Amino acid sequence: MEVSSDKEYIYSSTELDRYEGQVIEDVKASSQESIPDPDAWLEEELSRNILLTTVDAIINWGRRSSLWTVSCFPACCAIEIMAIEGPRFDLSRFGMDILRASPRQADLMITAGTLTWKMAPNVRRIYNQMPEPKWVIAMGACGISGGIFRSSYSVVPGYNKIIPVDVYVPGCPPRPEALIHGIRMLQRKIARTPVVPDLPELPLKGKQE
Ligand code: SF4
Repeated sequence: MEVSSDKEYIYSSTELDRYEGQVIEDVKASSQESIPDPDAWLEEELSRNILLTTVDAIINWGRRSSLWTVSCFPACCAIEIMAIEGPRFDLSRFGMDILRASPRQADLMITAGTLTWKMAPNVRRIYNQMPEPKWVIAMGACGISGGIFRSSYSVVPGYNKIIPVDVYVPGCPPRPEALIHGIRMLQRKIARTPVVPDLPELPLKGKQE
């Protein structure tokens, strides 16, 4: 049954009731057979359904593909963090769209800004509260060395004076593309990190990104 599109119903009419009944009848008529099991492929030949990898590779794949950044952006480099989180650069592509307000739910610190000695104990506390494994990207000249404020009595000359840094991204501020490059470098580093400590670093296989 056709219902004219230019007719507006305020209350249910007989015509509308008939139309709704017809829709139900149509669904009923086309739903007499069971929908095939979407997991039927599991019953195919077993050898075609097995992927082999190592525990290290699969764990590191999960770790590098779901880095959650703790909110700790003390100065102007934070503006570039805001840009990178937007649709143009789309950090969601790397599983990184969640900025955590709690360090206990984060495994990455991006040091987006000048750090003063007054703030240093708090930043170190945030880092200490992050669970292992965790990583740090020193973003911008201030994050790497104190930048133009390096000689100031109040500025920490680089985050690596208070916490270990994994990747350095220079610039004042670095462009979002540079930060993405740093993130990709960190992902490669994570991929090569042994899951069980004290084992030698894994060789990098395949094409380098
Ligand atoms: S590197 Fe430049 S943009 Fe970044 S916090 Fe320092 S002064 Fe600001």
